[in-house]
Amino acid sequence: MLMGLMQTTPLLVSGILRYAATAHGEREIVSRGVDEPIHRYDYARMARRCEHAAGALERLGVGAGDTVSSLAWNTHRHLELFYAVTGIGAVLHTANPRLFDEQIVYTINHAESSVLFFERNLLELVERIAGQLRTVRAYVMLTDEANLLPGAVGAVSYEALLAAVQPGFAWPSFDENAAAFLCYTSGTTGDPKGVLYSHRAVVLHAMAAGLASAFGFTAFDVVMPCSSLYHATAWGLPFVAPICGSKLVLPADRMDGAGLHELIEGEGVTFTGGVPTIWTMYLAWLDQNGRTPAGLKRVVIGGSAVPRAMAQAFKERYDVDVLQIWGMTELCPLGVVATPTPALAARGEEAMREAIWSRQGRLQFGIELRTADEDGADTARDGETSGALMVRGPWTIRRYHKHEADCVDADGWFDTGDIATLDADGFMRITDRKKDVIKSGGEWISSIDLENIAAACPGVKVAAVVGVPHPKWEERPLLIIETHDGASIDRAAVEDFLRPRIARWWMPDDVIFAAVPLTATGKIDKKTLRTRYRDHLADR
Ligand code: ADP
Repeated sequence: MLMGLMQTTPLLVSGILRYAATAHGEREIVSRGVDEPIHRYDYARMARRCEHAAGALERLGVGAGDTVSSLAWNTHRHLELFYAVTGIGAVLHTANPRLFDEQIVYTINHAESSVLFFERNLLELVERIAGQLRTVRAYVMLTDEANLLPGAVGAVSYEALLAAVQPGFAWPSFDENAAAFLCYTSGTTGDPKGVLYSHRAVVLHAMAAGLASAFGFTAFDVVMPCSSLYHATAWGLPFVAPICGSKLVLPADRMDGAGLHELIEGEGVTFTGGVPTIWTMYLAWLDQNGRTPAGLKRVVIGGSAVPRAMAQAFKERYDVDVLQIWGMTELCPLGVVATPTPALAARGEEAMREAIWSRQGRLQFGIELRTADEDGADTARDGETSGALMVRGPWTIRRYHKHEADCVDADGWFDTGDIATLDADGFMRITDRKKDVIKSGGEWISSIDLENIAAACPGVKVAAVVGVPHPKWEERPLLIIETHDGASIDRAAVEDFLRPRIARWWMPDDVIFAAVPLTATGKIDKKTLRTRYRDHLADR
């Protein structure tokens, strides 16, 4: 083979920072803090602070190949750790503060982190778990000296660490396949599993996510990630925005309607994103307060299926386009993005919208997808035949951290655990997660489809559907509805709404009005619901 004669510059996360500081150093980063006023600076100043943070990490004895953990929100200091830790060749484990204590302890121990960086309002949590952390030898609170609460762990302040370092750190070059981030799946089944992102995967993922076929940011965009920095690196947004020269707005942990709206309006946010539950809340807040998110153009939503009613509400009430994505921690996390195509546009505005809203998204370069039947053979790409969704590509997992064997087949395909269809338009539609699908009398009922339809029923805030054991049909669907404040609906009204919209045998066997529990990543907690209502249909 004749080899190319081009440079093999490694794709490193620090390269994104160096580029942003040079090309659009004055573009702003605005961040809420914990008990602090809003903080403002720009990519150039952030890059300098990251250099200080890198020096501080070295003084703490953290070097290439070491892992440190964060328990932190969407703040500028957490963002700095994204670049500083990975920039020196160390690994940042972004622990999820919303997990149960025992799971947080498990992940930090499993990661073998030497330092724990945490937010001021998480001190109590850190004090509670510190005795069980086997490898952590230093605690750093993400605050300044004036606000420092050393607590029982004797934490030092991040700002004091940075201030003690001389400027002028030079980012080292190393193998692009070195690990950069360690993200754990939320452990809905068994222990959380660690996914170790390489620099190469993170950079390629960010470059692809910036394309017009995906997020398509320009230098005029103002991007506010409401997906958590600790959840699969907030969908790569902290890398895509600096690559594209977009302003970045970080809301910390204030995801309430008023808090989000203040930033959307005040900072001119054009693009934001997060799991559906955040937007259910924000849409209700807008409605109750008679406000409009002027300037907001697009909202990217994923992590769970986007109810059609949500996409419609954003478009029809506020002229905001919803961009559905599907992905998972194992994919850095982006898989597909629902952007329009000329072929869909040719069917007319309405038809195009319907086509886009009803599917998770369009195939992206860099992520190969196939659906397989029970024997592992390809299923037809006809938009009808569903199969196990398999994925492969340069930002797809090969092996979980510290596992003995690869989690892909001989051809590199990773089984996502989702059931999906692929179609001739190049779109993918999730019908369900394998473990959520309802098996009724030998047929399958899609819990996602039922939820999506029920969510459009007036008065419904969240609709959850789970399969529960049934003496005759094996499993039958149960619909749990959380209503909007002040809404009064009953089972008969919900059934009347569903009847013309679903097959007769899909009708839930009961409708329960109750609060819907959420997981640590803001999804409907179906495991809890299944356990809670396990015997609900036992005497039918
Ligand atoms: P966990 O929920 O276990 O923490 P992830 O956040 O990685 O893990 O979740 C990935 C899963 O979330 C996918 O496998 C899929 O089931 C679900 N998911 C993500 N986006 C969507 C979407 N747009 N529609 C339906 N399901 C989605």
